[in-house]
Formats: sequence, structure tokens, C-alpha cells
Amino acid sequence: MKHLSILGSTGSVGENTLRVIRIHPERFSVKALAVKKNTAKLYDQAVEFRPKVVCIYDAQAAQKAAPKFKRLKIRVVTGDEGLAEVATLPGVQEVICAMVGAAGLKPIFAAVQAKKTVAIANKEPLVMAGKLLLDAAEKAGVAVLPIDSEHSALWQCLEKHDPAFVKRLIITSSGGPFRNMKGSLARITPAQALNHPKWKMGPKITIDSATMMNKGLEVIEAANLFRVPAGKIEVLVHPEAIVHALVEFVDGSHLAHLGVTDMRLPIQYALSYPGRLEDHLPRLDLTQLASLRFEKPDRERFPCLDLGYTASKIGGTMPAVLNAANEVAVEAFLSGRIGFLEIPKTLEKTMRSHRLIYKPVLADIFAADAWARETAEELL
Ligand code: MG
Repeated sequence: MKHLSILGSTGSVGENTLRVIRIHPERFSVKALAVKKNTAKLYDQAVEFRPKVVCIYDAQAAQKAAPKFKRLKIRVVTGDEGLAEVATLPGVQEVICAMVGAAGLKPIFAAVQAKKTVAIANKEPLVMAGKLLLDAAEKAGVAVLPIDSEHSALWQCLEKHDPAFVKRLIITSSGGPFRNMKGSLARITPAQALNHPKWKMGPKITIDSATMMNKGLEVIEAANLFRVPAGKIEVLVHPEAIVHALVEFVDGSHLAHLGVTDMRLPIQYALSYPGRLEDHLPRLDLTQLASLRFEKPDRERFPCLDLGYTASKIGGTMPAVLNAANEVAVEAFLSGRIGFLEIPKTLEKTMRSHRLIYKPVLADIFAADAWARETAEELL
């Protein structure tokens, strides 16, 4: 029996994690759940999974909902302290981090320092402070397991292979909703951008897919997770979204990871690792696939991809700056304040005016994150 804490349990990955756990109650037990403020959904989850503790980050929402949870004999905690408590709860072996944006960074470090295995679905912490996090995990002797589908795929292809023999990592992109669109992207509306052809995900990451910033961030994420320079990572557009990643070795051999387009697959592997579980997902039927296509991405039309490479190559605090500016720009696009093409422009301008710290500590990363949010906001 593996005891788990889930940070961000009412989001898309959090819910999928609970769907996996529901099918394997003899393997996993949920000790703690954390949410921002969706207490109604959290309550349903608590009734079903009976955690010992829940964190409702928003203090007002926590106060209002506390009596309901008390009747279930579940302790309610709140704020940064509460989040840290859920991330470090004694008896928990693995913490699943599925919070949106940069908010997950502190609790993930807390979990690692408390010697918990961390499974990370939200890429932002790995983008902002991936190197520091991997160093901290190495020191604590715990594993950092990726849930992001391409990185889960790379991890599985790389397992037990000497990094010295790896020539190139390839991650795929479905190309997003605008791969085949003719004409300018200037008038794209949030509703159009939110309509992703292959993956059902939260709004922030769906917009990131439409701009291809998601792939740019994933290049940084892969570089940090697998300690590989960004120049050795390639992105290919693969509309079928069946091959999630490939590894090319020095002898020319390629290993690929194939699977159905369903987040439960990488989530389940991060839970069952090093084992595998019989799943209840639709099976991949290769005979139903007419073809698998791979194309070079259009880097001019989707400049966010190259911004990811640039930030990774510059290193230091730059990935954190890119990530923070992007969160601000995406929010502004979703609320109708800026157009689709203003997103990359805002990011580039913010990056240009940043004063880099080459070897940051965690405090420098938080400072760069705050600076970039302010600067991007001013630029808007
Ligand atoms: Mg991904």
C-alpha cells in the first residue's frame, strides 16, 4: 500500500489521479488533499477517499467549509503552512504535485526535504527551478518522477541507459488547434484557443499548447530533468499524438514511447513505478492508425517555442522569468486584455529587460518570478 498526498486534487490531473486510485484501492491510499478553493468538489473527494487532512489554500474558503470536514473527522489546514503540512505529512511516501503554475514550487521542495518521492505534473516548478530541485532530491535520496506525458515517455525510454550513449531527445507536439490554420493568428479568440484537438486539459496549458509555449517550456523541463543541454532536444509536430517522445542513441537506434492520448497513463506509471499495473484504459490499436506523421514545427509562426530554447540556453533565472511572464500574458489573453500575438511579444520584452542571475538560489528564483510578473504586467 502506497500512501499519497495530492496537491491540486480538483484540477484536471488531480481528478485523473483519483480516477487511477479508484481502480486500485488495494494499492494506494489518499492521506491528504490540497486545493485552492473548490471546497464543493473537495468535499465529494473527501467523502470517497477519506484523507486525514485537507488543505484549502484560500483562508476564507477554508474557514467557511471547515465544519463540514470536521463532521467527517478530517482536519482542515490553510495557506502556505497548510500546503507545506500536506506536502510533508508523516507516513506519506509519494506526493503528487498537480497545482497550476508556480504555486507548486515551495511545497515540492518541502516534500523533497521531507524525503518524499515527488511526482510532478505541473511543469512550471521544473522549468523555474528544475536544476535546484534535482540537486535537492539527489541530496535527500528521493526520486523526482515526471507526469508530463512527453517527459514520462522520455523517462521510460531512457531507463537503464547510460546517458553517455544518448545523442538526442525528441518530444512531440500535436501542433495545437492552429497547426493548419491559414492566414494571420492575430484575431484568435480565447474560445478558439481553448479548443484543443487531442488533449483535454486546464485552460492555462491549453493556451500554452496553442502558442506552442507549452513545448518551449517542455524543452526547458526536459533539459532540467534529464540534465541534457537544450541543443540536444528536438521538437517534432506529430498530429496523431500517439508517439509521445523518442530517444536517439549514438549508434542511430531510436527508442519511442507509444500510448493512447490519456493523462491517466503517465499518472499511473508515476504511481506504480517501478512496477506496472493492469489498466482499464482504452488500448492502443495500431491497426487503426493509417499513418504516423512527423513534421518540423513552424518556428516563425509560433515564436514561443524558440523563446523556450533561448531561456534554457541562457539558464540561471531566465526560465523563471519566461514562465512568470507567460502566466501573466496568458491570463491577460484569456480575459480579453491582449491579442494572441501579444503573448510572445510580452515574453520577449520581459526577457530582454531581465538582469540575469547565473547561479541562482531559490530566493533568487522567487525574486525573478516576482520581477517578471510586475514587468510583464507593466508592458501590457
Ligand atoms: Mg506535455
